[in-house]
Amino acid sequence: MIEHRQTLIKIKADLLNICISSVDKLNSYSEYSTLLHNCLNQHFEIDKCCFLLFEGETLKPFNINSSENFKGIPWASFANYFGHHKLVQIPELLLDHLECEHLTHMVLLKEGNFDVHGVLLLKSTSKWLDFMHSDYFEDFIDVMSKVLLMISKNVVVRQNENQYRKLYNMTDLFHSTMDIDLILENVLITIQENFPHFNVELILSNDQDRQTKIQIKPFDYLSERPSAIEAFVSGNITTEQATDLNCCLLNAPIKGRQAIYGILQVSAPFSFVFSNAQKDFIRMLAHASGNALENAKLYHQSHRLISDLQLINETSHRLNMRLDINEMFMFLQKQLMKSFQPMELCFVLKENGKFKLTEAATDLFKSDEGSVYINHVAKHFETSQDPLFIADFSRLISKDVEYKSVMAIPMVVEQRINGFSMVLHRESYFFSFDSFKLMQSLIHHSSLAIANSILRNQLQQMVDHDHLTKLYARSYLDKFVEHSLQHDDSGMFLLIDIDNFKRVNDTYGHQIGDEILVQIGKRLIKTVGKRGISARWGGEEMAVYVPNILENESLLLAEEIVKSIPEATDPSVTISAGLVNWNNEKNGEFQTLFLQADTALYNAKNKGKNQVCVYNDTMSMEL
Ligand code: GH3
Ligand code: MG
Ligand code: MG
Repeated sequence: MIEHRQTLIKIKADLLNICISSVDKLNSYSEYSTLLHNCLNQHFEIDKCCFLLFEGETLKPFNINSSENFKGIPWASFANYFGHHKLVQIPELLLDHLECEHLTHMVLLKEGNFDVHGVLLLKSTSKWLDFMHSDYFEDFIDVMSKVLLMISKNVVVRQNENQYRKLYNMTDLFHSTMDIDLILENVLITIQENFPHFNVELILSNDQDRQTKIQIKPFDYLSERPSAIEAFVSGNITTEQATDLNCCLLNAPIKGRQAIYGILQVSAPFSFVFSNAQKDFIRMLAHASGNALENAKLYHQSHRLISDLQLINETSHRLNMRLDINEMFMFLQKQLMKSFQPMELCFVLKENGKFKLTEAATDLFKSDEGSVYINHVAKHFETSQDPLFIADFSRLISKDVEYKSVMAIPMVVEQRINGFSMVLHRESYFFSFDSFKLMQSLIHHSSLAIANSILRNQLQQMVDHDHLTKLYARSYLDKFVEHSLQHDDSGMFLLIDIDNFKRVNDTYGHQIGDEILVQIGKRLIKTVGKRGISARWGGEEMAVYVPNILENESLLLAEEIVKSIPEATDPSVTISAGLVNWNNEKNGEFQTLFLQADTALYNAKNKGKNQVCVYNDTMSMEL
């Protein structure tokens, strides 16, 4: 008896030692298992034993990590065998179930009549049998149960501490980085480290940066499992026993302060039950990553906003440099190409109530293929001033379309649409909403400058043209001739005066006289064509200037003009004209040119009108 008492005391001393070492040395069940085994071996020569720990409704072997794929043995299968006893022989049936040979007895580790903490399975020895029948056995069970409880609590605390340390380290890293890839990568690594046998997936909503290299699954409302959608929408963790996938799913929302960015989905074996501590850990991890992701996104957003502002600023600045309308479109085209990388782009302007394609357009729009896009957008802008952001054009139109992504922004000035700009890309969902906003901003800031430039052009057109005849004005001709004298090699100047126009006016009235001026103007434009320009010199006098023309050609043209007028006018009139030529060797002075042409015209009148006279040096003598 004394011997048994001493054994118990020694065992207690051993257990006390284990407890003391547990304070800072022991972390895992297997470490405890070895020490307990040594103790039993030393006092009872037991060489095979195994501790089962009570967890939920099952018993799990001590040395198996709780997250591993071990289903545990249902407590119910043990309970019956014990009955009212705490020590029984292991029944054959259970032995097969446990897959552990040579074990003979099992001990119910339970404090008095309270909760069951676990079961000890062992291969009994004579020393053990001896002790078992002593008065100290109950005491042994009691102390073993308490130790087991302490161990399980201790291990859980240690595991939690470990997890939270990792979580802390990860959050620490998150605070110091704006690299979205690094954040996502660390979330995956941390989960994988803590649950090495589970599968983890990051399901992120698709407004994330598309460049990320990490393996992520886009969140798709249509195909996602209801439990994942619920977690995404509610912001709470959900779990699901997915029979079809034969696994247990846990969905933790990746939540920031402003939004939910996706789901962290952990799939465990089917029968696995996530403990509250595990759920808490995953929730905190997902939450930390949500905040980090949000920070990084805001950081990138603010950077993008700054560069967008710079772009808008630079564009406004350039457009205010009084560029000509074509230069303006060229510049905007370059900016839009650089910012949005569209495959096709065009600018369309409203002229006399109709949308007309400008020169600033890629080839697609100049071909028939482009009309489907222009027509659709133009029709929209006939009734609305709202910009268009189309992610998949093929869904809107019955025809087959090659380009799916469309952005079209109207140019609105004083609440009226002056035109629009459109960009296209083959890929659907190519342009981001941010790009849409930026393009809107760019066009908005350019619209006024474009409208001003158009007005400036129209004003210049008016200044440069004679209102009645639509011929160029004298001021324009002056500039044109002076420029040609400096840059060309030769040219002809023809001064025209209508014969007996006073009489025409007197006979038919001034209004008919004006009509004749218009008829002559039209004929001049037609005959001269693109070779040169025709202008109203003043009153009923007109002029034609053609650069880079040989003398004989210029005479032919002048004669053709004089000859063409009688049949171009109704009532028919004739004209007289004075022609002067210049080249690199002679003339070259604008004033002289005009005086000489005038002299030649005077000669033509003198010689009987309805003819052209070419200036020569003898004429000035006659003046
Ligand atoms: P000539 O053959 O010598 O040129 O005789 P003319 O009658 O044409 O004489 P001149 O060239 O001196 O006459 C100019 C006339 O042209 C005076 C004016 O009645 C007329 N005229 C000038 N400008 C206009 C105009 O804008 N409209 C009309 N209807 N008549 C004009
Ligand atoms: Mg005259
Ligand atoms: Mg005249």
